[in-house]
Amino acid sequence: MTAEVIVDIAHSEVDKIFEYRADDRVREGCRVKVPFGNKIVDGYVMRLKEGSEYDPAKLKPIKEVVDGSLTEECLRLVERLAERYHCPKALVLRLFLPAEMRRGAVGEQYKNFVVLKDASAEVPSRAKAQAAAAEFMRANLRYGYTELCEKFGRSAVNALIGRGIFALEKERVNRLPYAEAAGAFVPRELTYAQQRVLKEIEASEKTVQLLHGVTGSGKTEVYLTLIAKTLQEGKSAIFLVPEISLTPQMLTQLRARFKEKAAILHSGLSAGEKFDEWWRLRTGQAKIAIGARSAVFAPVENVGVIVIDEEHDGSYSSEQNPRYNTAEVALFRAEYNHCKLILGSATPSVETYRKAAEGEYNLLELPVRINERPMPEMIVADMRREIRRGNDSAFSSALCEELEKCLANKKQAILFLNRRGFAQSVVCRSCGAVVHCAQCDVPLTYHSEEGCLKCHYCGTSYRMLTACPECGGVHLSYRGTGTQKIVGELHRRFPEARILRMDVDTTSGKEGHYKILKQFAAREADILVGTQMVAKGHDFPAVTLVGILDADMSLHFADYRSGERTFQLITQVAGRSGRAQEKGTVVLQTYDPSNYILRFAMEYDYKAFYKHEIALRKATSFPPFARIVRVMVTGEDEKKTLEVLKDVYFSLKELHDSHSGEFLFFNKMKSPVKKIQNKFRYQVLMRLTSDGLLQEVYARSISHKTRDVNVYVEENPANMS
Ligand code: ADP
Ligand code: ZN
Repeated sequence: MTAEVIVDIAHSEVDKIFEYRADDRVREGCRVKVPFGNKIVDGYVMRLKEGSEYDPAKLKPIKEVVDGSLTEECLRLVERLAERYHCPKALVLRLFLPAEMRRGAVGEQYKNFVVLKDASAEVPSRAKAQAAAAEFMRANLRYGYTELCEKFGRSAVNALIGRGIFALEKERVNRLPYAEAAGAFVPRELTYAQQRVLKEIEASEKTVQLLHGVTGSGKTEVYLTLIAKTLQEGKSAIFLVPEISLTPQMLTQLRARFKEKAAILHSGLSAGEKFDEWWRLRTGQAKIAIGARSAVFAPVENVGVIVIDEEHDGSYSSEQNPRYNTAEVALFRAEYNHCKLILGSATPSVETYRKAAEGEYNLLELPVRINERPMPEMIVADMRREIRRGNDSAFSSALCEELEKCLANKKQAILFLNRRGFAQSVVCRSCGAVVHCAQCDVPLTYHSEEGCLKCHYCGTSYRMLTACPECGGVHLSYRGTGTQKIVGELHRRFPEARILRMDVDTTSGKEGHYKILKQFAAREADILVGTQMVAKGHDFPAVTLVGILDADMSLHFADYRSGERTFQLITQVAGRSGRAQEKGTVVLQTYDPSNYILRFAMEYDYKAFYKHEIALRKATSFPPFARIVRVMVTGEDEKKTLEVLKDVYFSLKELHDSHSGEFLFFNKMKSPVKKIQNKFRYQVLMRLTSDGLLQEVYARSISHKTRDVNVYVEENPANMS
């Protein structure tokens, strides 16, 4: 047999199929070691076939079979994605395997067990420890080696093994993340509305189902019921949630309900845990893959349902090559497996909702909260009026009043802020210069706890400045407000309140988010202050107050989606309030109370927002009525980068000139952030009327990539910086 192999070298020059001679151990999808040049490298068997285009006698044999890592479905998906995103197959393959496993840095973990071999053997009673250990094992038969040694001493246990009375057995053990999260599963009767949605999904012929349900309407219960049903049919499921913000409640629920059938995949796990969870899925011991966007590549077979919760979330588009779109990959897998793809959200993205409105997706609705609980009351705090009244702090009087009430009632509050750190930036009062990172074209942010300045793009910390680096002036001022500053002010205003802060800085450790959220859920704190992370999917019954400190912040980004983002953020954060018996309140602080986006959000009127937004997109020809494509050219050497930019630009310009009707916009420019981590960033930005030229744009752009200058294509980028 001949094996078509892809070698694990992500370089476009070796991005082709190599043929090797295969013996009968080799299967499609196997990870293998093959001779390549004068080295032995890892490779993957994409296909097996009879014969070869080359002289079979000259084919080199496969050296070693490592394991059967990839399913048939993965192989086909690799081919498809490599073609779709114009990137080397080896690079796509890496999405399917835990990185540490590929590098051979992690393997199975085994545990030694002692078993009783000879129950009738006499152990002389003067060897006290041995006699006791033998006695113990007669009752237990099998026991952990380390644990047994702790009880009776290593020498006694080893002596009994030496005499053949005990034997050692090695067994593979799984490192199970969040094992302690398991609780008891209490089955719940579905509401009439939830049952109706399930029936509609079952009856629908369409592959994609959009579940549009307000926050707290019981969408999660719908997903879990679907997954449980899939499991009963002997199939597996994929359940995607945004980022690492898997909430403790969600984990508890999943572990309680599905036990070890659920595998959790995310970047916060240790290498060993990741490896074990992945293998449990690959071998079918676990049937439900739960995780952030990368879990869409989970090695499960015979998939019965795929769920993408909070489908509008920005984290579903990858910011690394290949820049895949999670829903697109999920759709391929759903079609391959003939199963349904459920997209759920209280605030679907405009693109998704349009597909549902036009009938491409099936639209399901849960318009009211569970038990008809009211949506939280919105109080608008006009910050301009606060300033006129002499209050220039970050807290409006309305928010202070509500916080006082909330604390007096022994309830919890969440305060949401779009920024982290202490103050936004450091400005010199003499020359007006804003202090920037040396490697990136972005202002630094002051962090009071560490007493340093940090770059939020590359993470570098700088010592505090005493003078302006531009003019030497010593009067520096701090502009803006961050989470640290808010926490400091809260401590002053409410000295008794217990406060937790959740942002990138406080959640970097292993299970960092989980720990903070668990503390908050256990009511070890009264107020949780945080960035976007606090907006996502959490269900804390005691939270009755949500404060949105800077509702307008995201409105002012130069991005066609800023209105949509603001609407989503406000709706999501507000949705954390009043989810249980008590009525919820939201205080929304704004400098622009009459803004239509804020008004729709305050009225919880998604449909009115959608109607307005879609009309605007149509009038201005923005997605979904056009496709924004950004070709990024980045490199450390500005001159070389500019040369490549020019090549890319002219080759695309040719396309533009011959198809000018399909371009709504076409230009080259510096990126809004000119430099990140010492790499200069230039771009060709275009807006296309359809996807007809998309593949040609990819092909032309990527062909100009050099060793020093990277070129990549982004479609409707979530982040335009
Ligand atoms: P969503 O995902 O739409 O925001 P959740 O699924 O978190 O909503 O449900 C909101 C709250 O209602 C949760 O506390 C959940 O436990 C509860 N809940 C969901 N379904 C039911 C049900 N059928 N009966 C009683 N309570 C429910
Ligand atoms: Zn930087």
